Amino acid sequence: MNDTTALAPDRLAEIRASVERAHTEIGQVCAEGPHHRFRMSVPAQPGRDTDLIISDALKGAGELLAEVEKLHAQRDRLLALHEYDELIFGGFICVHCTPNDADDPDDNIAWPCPSLRAIGVDNDEGNAIILARRAAIARKAAQEAGAR
Ligand SMILES: [Zn+2]
Repeated sequence: MNDTTALAPDRLAEIRASVERAHTEIGQVCAEGPHHRFRMSVPAQPGRDTDLIISDALKGAGELLAEVEKLHAQRDRLLALHEYDELIFGGFICVHCTPNDADDPDDNIAWPCPSLRAIGVDNDEGNAIILARRAAIARKAAQEAGAR
């Protein structure tokens, strides 16, 4: 699977249309009752048969889930690459974006850095990430202390 290829806008439009068709079809089945409306034909008619309309939407849902999982993995890799470090006197910098030879504190790149902000990581999420990592560190320390 090519990790950089996103679902094409045309395919997204098809999925949206198939979900809307399925929504309308289910509404009609509910309104008219399954014995009157649930349609299955031999030979199959994809644009008419209730089961095919619904299964087409579910196929699209599967593609969307795969896309979301891929995007989450990409996001996790970016978060791992743009790791933070906490400064002794307060504040957080991006270890990846801040130059290694920074002599001037003005050279520090605050975390979340512009790369993370570009994927939607704001201060609130940054704070949540920091608090979650601190909690994980505290849990691990408590487990290790209990093991002694
Ligand atoms: Zn960064």
